[in-house]
Amino acid sequence: MYRRKDTRTVHVGNVAIGGQDRVVLQTMTKAPPKSETCIEEIRRYSEAGAELVRVAVNDAADARAIRTLKEETDTPLVADIHFDHRLALTAIESGVDKIRINPGNLNKAEHVRALAEAAKARNVPIRIGVNSGSLEKDLVKRYGRTKEAMVGSARRQAEMLESYGHEKIVVSLKASDVTLAVEANLLAAKTMPYPLHIGITEAGTYEQGTVQSSAGLGVMLFHGIGDTIRVSLTERREDELRIGRKLLSSFGLIKGPKLIACPTCGRLAYDMDPLVRRIEAYLEENPRPITVAIMGCAVNGPDEAKEADVGIAGGKESGLLFKKGEVVRRVPQDELYDTLVEAIENL
Ligand code: SF4
Repeated sequence: MYRRKDTRTVHVGNVAIGGQDRVVLQTMTKAPPKSETCIEEIRRYSEAGAELVRVAVNDAADARAIRTLKEETDTPLVADIHFDHRLALTAIESGVDKIRINPGNLNKAEHVRALAEAAKARNVPIRIGVNSGSLEKDLVKRYGRTKEAMVGSARRQAEMLESYGHEKIVVSLKASDVTLAVEANLLAAKTMPYPLHIGITEAGTYEQGTVQSSAGLGVMLFHGIGDTIRVSLTERREDELRIGRKLLSSFGLIKGPKLIACPTCGRLAYDMDPLVRRIEAYLEENPRPITVAIMGCAVNGPDEAKEADVGIAGGKESGLLFKKGEVVRRVPQDELYDTLVEAIENL
């Protein structure tokens, strides 16, 4: 595995995207900026690990409300704009940190020019957010809904922005078809210098969305592609961020805890599930870069989880505490959780 570091670096507020060995996690609020609950969402997501938060700007009131949001949070905000470039201009005046536009519905030269000039004057990056479902008609006619049409759409708008002097560009190429999204991003990574925001759009409910996002983003991350990610789920944003963090941690792209739990089998000697859930919750609250194992039996547990820094292998009346595959001591059943937490804290 390697990281694609030869992208440009773009600063969104105080967060750098691209040109580095790091992937920035982001999400989007459910409430629009003018809603009273928007700021509370931004704070919650920021606490849950979002380094950038995007808001949907539907009208002038939303674009103006960004000013109030900016007074109440340090988290960089991204305004998501479709169709009307004037909303983007107002969002920039309101102090937004980044704009996302869709080249499929905002592509008139004079509008893009006005936007490029205003964004450049305020040092505001623009994400060209291509979506396979809303591509320009001429590109679909020429290439169909393919990776070539998606990358062509991004390239055309990037060239327009650059011709008007704006170079702080991030590109995203999203599709609900995982294969298409992966192919488009592989092609963009080969042919464009811009940092890539990666995601699988309309990925769906918790299970479906997690599988689709893990499949698509996993392949991209493995190929070193992706400077910022959003896992899109229809459910709680905290879940998106949790899945995103776990995905990045699987590739060593952020340091965090790893919990190994055996799949259990006929040798399972105790009620393991509650212990796994409690330790998972503990590690969420205390995210140190350690590997913890919870295993179902003492016969194979310590050996199967040798790479864990610390672990428990449960038994009928008592279990074993082990470190790096070596048994430390026997622990009564009802003390397994406390003993494991103590061992983690003493690592
Ligand atoms: S650790 Fe024990 S219970 Fe768990 S899968 Fe291995 S053999 Fe089965």
